[in-house]
Amino acid sequence: MRVGCPKEIKNHEYRVGLTPASVREYVARGHEVLIETNAGSGIGASDSDYVAAGAAIVATAAEIFAKSDMIVKVKEPQPSEWVQLREGQILYTYLHLAPDPEQTKGLLASGVTAIAYETVTDERGGLPLLAPMSEVAGRLSIQAGAYALQKANGGRGILLGGVPGVLPAKVVVIGGGVVGLHAARMAVGLGADVTILDRSLPRLRQLDDIFHGQVHTRFSSIDALESEVFSADLVIGAVLIPGAAAPKLVTRKMLGGMKKGAVIVDVAIDQGGCFETSHATTHSDPTYEVDGIIHYCVANMPGAVPVTSAHALNNATIQHGLALADRGVQAILADKHLRNGLNVHKGKITNQAVADALGLQM
Ligand code: NAD
Repeated sequence: MRVGCPKEIKNHEYRVGLTPASVREYVARGHEVLIETNAGSGIGASDSDYVAAGAAIVATAAEIFAKSDMIVKVKEPQPSEWVQLREGQILYTYLHLAPDPEQTKGLLASGVTAIAYETVTDERGGLPLLAPMSEVAGRLSIQAGAYALQKANGGRGILLGGVPGVLPAKVVVIGGGVVGLHAARMAVGLGADVTILDRSLPRLRQLDDIFHGQVHTRFSSIDALESEVFSADLVIGAVLIPGAAAPKLVTRKMLGGMKKGAVIVDVAIDQGGCFETSHATTHSDPTYEVDGIIHYCVANMPGAVPVTSAHALNNATIQHGLALADRGVQAILADKHLRNGLNVHKGKITNQAVADALGLQM
């Protein structure tokens, strides 16, 4: 199969669908790979790196879309991209169609076969192509929070780990899933006093096992949430109710009970956020203040570290990508988890949750 990877064109998107290491995997299986010139510049991969891996470099995205049997990307196709897709072609990328009727219309009109990374499943009921970005965002949330806590950045001026003789900062993580686990790891590593709240007792048991007493775990009742948030220096919002908007667990009124200069990092902002006062921000202007509390609510946190994020994403996408290149649509029929990733095929929606969210028929 001929596999093509255009340069990402969404604002501030520096990741790339195929790293040179992934190109080698496709080429080793006998596939031909086309890479748009400079596609890897955001992660420091030059055209000559891609050529060394076995790819052919082409000058324009138009050539990629016209000549490839499968397109591998990171972000959902933009309007100028979806008009270039066609029936018989496979698109393999993040799509997030549920809140995006315009893109959905474009993909349906094109006839393309589109697999959405975010709805591919695994045997454990997880979302393996979404998880690496949650790992990145979770780890980054502590870096972002630690920086915002510095006095010059509006925070209360406390060092996460303290120093000998001075207590560390208190970090409260709401939601102990993938984001929460990785946030807690970083916070523990820096020497903070960490508490994880979750409503799943099995998950709290698992976290207790993982951390061997290095974190406190607490069932996320209204009472517990309030007392933890009021005593926190840094609160990480990391809840997810699959398919639903994030619940507003911390109200504006509760901000009044928090320490002035405390910091909120609302990682769940891409699902609407779990703080009533959250609104999405960008990497160029990531924080704002409400009632003396600093809010960091960047919706695409992994975009800040494209080198790590692109490699982590490629590690997760490569297996299914190779299967698609080897067997085309047959690979989708043969694997129920890849089938769950199929969102659009020949002008029809093929994922029930996406169809329901958009009010469309399957
Ligand atoms: P996950 O499903 O692994 O974990 C979510 C956890 O929240 C689960 O353990 C669940 O039991 C818990 N939870 C649900 N309701 C709760 C409540 N009321 N109180 C406490 N815990 C509760 O999800 P994840 O992969 O960790 O993702 C978390 C959020 O981060 C999602 O909204 C995801 O979209 C978002 N995310 C954002 C970015 C970004 O750049 N901003 C990047 C990656 C992920």
